[in-house]
Amino acid sequence: MIRIGLTGGIGSGKSTVSDLLAARGAVLIDADRIVREIQAPGGVAYQPIIDRFGPGVVAADGTLDRPALAAIVFADEAARKELMAITNPHVGRIMAERMAAEADTDNVVVLDIPLLAEGGKARYGVGGVVVVDCPIDTALRRLVDIRGMDEEDARRRMASQATREERVAVADFVVDNSGDLAHLTSEVERAWAWIQSLPAGGTPPD
Ligand code: ADP
Repeated sequence: MIRIGLTGGIGSGKSTVSDLLAARGAVLIDADRIVREIQAPGGVAYQPIIDRFGPGVVAADGTLDRPALAAIVFADEAARKELMAITNPHVGRIMAERMAAEADTDNVVVLDIPLLAEGGKARYGVGGVVVVDCPIDTALRRLVDIRGMDEEDARRRMASQATREERVAVADFVVDNSGDLAHLTSEVERAWAWIQSLPAGGTPPD
């Protein structure tokens, strides 16, 4: 197993890069998807979140009202930290379990961790970190024009993440997504070749 981390700010093109890496055979372990699993009814984080944030974060169908929860935590840093304290230990454990299942394979395992730049690098013991990077205005335009996100909401989410500079500072390899999709594909080819050159294993997680 070769283990790498993948990160990038919202709108950078991280999901698109994940798909391109998966198409080349990478096994993705996606922190966002794990968050959604543990926040679903019956998931380990579901009831603790309701206990902390109240019935206002439950939708009519009994699932968590993620926009309502996002509105609370993006407006209140202390609340955001509390939500992370509820979910992060489970996300870390589940990622470790999925990595253990790949340990004896020759697969490239890509840990897709949105907040890797906020302190997760050592914790996940990756052999290298790939950061998807593009100008802030480009990311904003993609979120608003392509994904239909409200501009103020997009700006708030971007402001709550690590800065572009902080993210690039933890990168071992930068995928430039300031151009079109053909340019991104050639960047991913370059990244894939670099990933193949890394030693298998990576350091074990804490
Ligand atoms: P992230 O996962 O980083 O938030 P996505 O990969 O979902 O970002 O990209 C945001 C949007 O921009 C998506 O609709 C995606 O298809 C589009 N996109 C990403 N990169 C490019 C690009 N180089 N050219 C055009 N559209 C792009």
